[in-house]
Amino acid sequence: MTQLNLDLKKLTHNFTTIKGRLKTTTKIMAVVKADAYGLGATALSKQLISLGADCLAVAYAHEGVSLRKIGVDCPIIVFYPQYERIDTIIDYTLEPSLFSSDFIEAFATALKQKKCVNYPAHLKCNTGLNRIGLSAPEVDDFLAKKEAFPFTLKSVYSHLGASEDPRPNTFTQKQITSFLAIKEKVEKTFSVPPLFHLLNTSGVFNYPEYQLDMVRIGIGLYGFANQIEWDHLLQPIASLSTTIVQIHSVQKGESVGYNQGWIAHKESRIGVLPLGHADGISRKFGKGVGGVWVNGKRAPIVGNVCMDMLMIDLTEIDCVPLDRAVLFDHLHTARALAEQAGTISYELMTALSPRIQRFIE
Ligand SMILES: *Cc1c(COP(=O)(O)O)cnc(C)c1O
Repeated sequence: MTQLNLDLKKLTHNFTTIKGRLKTTTKIMAVVKADAYGLGATALSKQLISLGADCLAVAYAHEGVSLRKIGVDCPIIVFYPQYERIDTIIDYTLEPSLFSSDFIEAFATALKQKKCVNYPAHLKCNTGLNRIGLSAPEVDDFLAKKEAFPFTLKSVYSHLGASEDPRPNTFTQKQITSFLAIKEKVEKTFSVPPLFHLLNTSGVFNYPEYQLDMVRIGIGLYGFANQIEWDHLLQPIASLSTTIVQIHSVQKGESVGYNQGWIAHKESRIGVLPLGHADGISRKFGKGVGGVWVNGKRAPIVGNVCMDMLMIDLTEIDCVPLDRAVLFDHLHTARALAEQAGTISYELMTALSPRIQRFIE
């Protein structure tokens, strides 16, 4: 059976390690978007709150609704709110990122219709990532008109595009300078200024002096920090393993899997594992890319990954059906497996489908 085990002791280790690198006054926003990076937001969110996270963040409104429905009552920031979900955000007291002048107008109109005032919101500034956010002149506009809006501005933030890249980095430095200029202006227009925040996980490791009032931690909670030396300070909380369903022998010249994705160049033992691309194991694996661990030895994934199953080469490994195969754990990391397919731990983990059962340890 395939299982994704989540180790809450490691989650605690990661949270306290990151907290230990911050000033005692710096707040932590725990990022649980995309179902806590594919691992399972229900269990992990409650744990993160009990560890002392000050608030949670999701990408989209309906992710926040799911958290409210399981009883999460702390502030939940919606990083990427959409026009069609403004009512949902208000109905569930989620806190939007205000990312454009148009969106601010639309949100304010909805609030006025519902007779809401002082609604908690966050201002997202674009300082060079050019993804989502207000430009510096749009921030000025907002500040000039802020009294007319029914918002309580809880925080102002921006997002670095290359926080893990070695310092000095002129792109990141420019982003920081732009954000600090915005910060100064905002501070001048409020008697009680909002919180300011800029750093994600790798930002905390690389630019701790810019931690400001709060940091937004996602991948670090789950055990990765985008550079091997920082990864070593954290512990991957998830391990994905399964059992070998069947082992069979193929003769030299026989093929394995759809479209004869792999041809045996000698007599070989092939193991079948009950997970496939429907579970989030990409078809970029296979044909020699990627491997799993059986009784301490690496078994390459062979042939094309199927929807529900994949095949591994066990020729050199002493094993029997029902032995366990590890895709990743704290030793053989998700990052290492992801890199074999040319991707990153974030993509591998968030792709893991709900069909894989999660177990909390
Ligand atoms: C996802 C996200 C984060 C978290 O980033 P990590 O690298 O996972 O720590 C922080 N801020 C924003 C705006 C995000 O979208």
